[in-house]
Amino acid sequence: MADQELLIKDITRKVLAMLGTDANPGACSAYESVDEAVRAAVAAQKSWQWDFLLEERIRIINNLRNELLDDKVIEELSALTAEETGMGRIDDKIIKKRLSIEKTPGPEFFRVNAITGDHGLALEELSPFGVIASITPSTNPVASVFNNTICMIAGGNGVVFAPHPGAVRSTRRAIEYVTRALEKFGAPRNLVVTITKPSLENLKQLMGNPGIRMISATGGPAVVKAALSSGKPAIGAGPGNPPVLVDETANLRKAARDVMLGCSFDNNLTCIAEKELFVVNCVADEFKKHMLEDGQVFELRHQEDIQKLMSVTLKEGLPDKSMVGKSPQHILSKIGIKIPENVRLILVETHEDHPFVQEEMLMPVLPMVRVPDFNEGLAASLKAEHGYKHSAVIHSTNINHMSEMARAMETTIFTKNAPSFASIGYGGDCPTAFTIATTTGQGPTTPLSFCRTRRCVLFGSFRIV
Ligand code: NAD
Repeated sequence: MADQELLIKDITRKVLAMLGTDANPGACSAYESVDEAVRAAVAAQKSWQWDFLLEERIRIINNLRNELLDDKVIEELSALTAEETGMGRIDDKIIKKRLSIEKTPGPEFFRVNAITGDHGLALEELSPFGVIASITPSTNPVASVFNNTICMIAGGNGVVFAPHPGAVRSTRRAIEYVTRALEKFGAPRNLVVTITKPSLENLKQLMGNPGIRMISATGGPAVVKAALSSGKPAIGAGPGNPPVLVDETANLRKAARDVMLGCSFDNNLTCIAEKELFVVNCVADEFKKHMLEDGQVFELRHQEDIQKLMSVTLKEGLPDKSMVGKSPQHILSKIGIKIPENVRLILVETHEDHPFVQEEMLMPVLPMVRVPDFNEGLAASLKAEHGYKHSAVIHSTNINHMSEMARAMETTIFTKNAPSFASIGYGGDCPTAFTIATTTGQGPTTPLSFCRTRRCVLFGSFRIV
């Protein structure tokens, strides 16, 4: 009987989904009204939580991954994001999207905790919060949608996305693909929705709506502060300024390549990417020679040019937003310097207090600072990271240096002897996350980050020994 009911439910859902998608191929649950968006998501989430078996959720999420893993979809979204935001590299955006689809952990991540003793059994399970408001950045709009959707719905939640105003079209298109696939495979319509006008007023309304049970804020300090002031459970995935330290024991050729790859990835848009480089003086010349040897790094040597670069990349001492995520070719063209197409990174030797070192520039411009020894390099790294506790990188074969820096930095992510992107699963042995909860401490988010733990105790029974 139960099997038959399931079968009927499944067929009904498939027919409804077919009708829905056929009638409206570009269907996207996008709402102008915040209240309507939340109301729709709340109804869908209740059904997702109560009417769907875990195995159905797993099947739907697996199908969602397969559907999104379509080269045409990924390429379209990567090109659209680059065109709309004017930031980043299409080839790297393709990698980010693939990562977010393939390596975001799903429902299989959950474990039940069962404790037995003289007095019976205690069971601890993870339960959804309900509907989550997910506020996404302009720097990874699509990867954040894929990553957050899988993590959040894996835990039984629904989502209302609030896109960055500068990435509305690409965020919405990504949500369109997500909702279409979810409906096709039988998930409730409106489990994932978005608001069409992400003004500050609408964001305030969204966070304050009683139907929203958790807020996930990925972006700069203002949005994290707003989420934490909401009085609701919040994930604060804030800014960083990751230092990379190269000591005298590092494999210099490999370190140089890793730093170049990590720092230039998507034109330095990712929050985990190497933002400033400290190299121990006795190996600095050799390290720099390796950095420059294959022509993918261009060094700006003359003070006059560096001054000009500052004048186009900084505004009143802060990063000029119009240059964020731009290519090295574009940035240098602004000061009349033409460089080959294969250049991925601009290198500038400077001092520790330079704004390129202290500010989160999010540009493919790497400031390099020579330090007398490891200890001074660590002190400079700590200062430049500003206590965000986000990310840091070391290249070394001295295990004491590696441990000391890992302990001292206290960052959420610490990468040893690899490009920073290894820490989000690109080359590294770990799942991916595009919402890295720094301020609120959940770390690289997984489905567990979006669930609450509930305990049930049965007194006196159910032990088997
Ligand atoms: P941003 O702060 O400009 O925007 C992020 C989101 O916050 C957007 O949706 C925006 O509409 C919203 N927002 C901005 N100000 C707000 C306010 N006062 N109240 C409510 N909402 C507000 O960030 P961005 O430029 O899109 O992204 C880059 C920043 O995000 C960098 O600092 C980067 O380090 C950080 N980031 C962090 C992570 C992480 O996982 N920790 C991931 C990606 C980006």
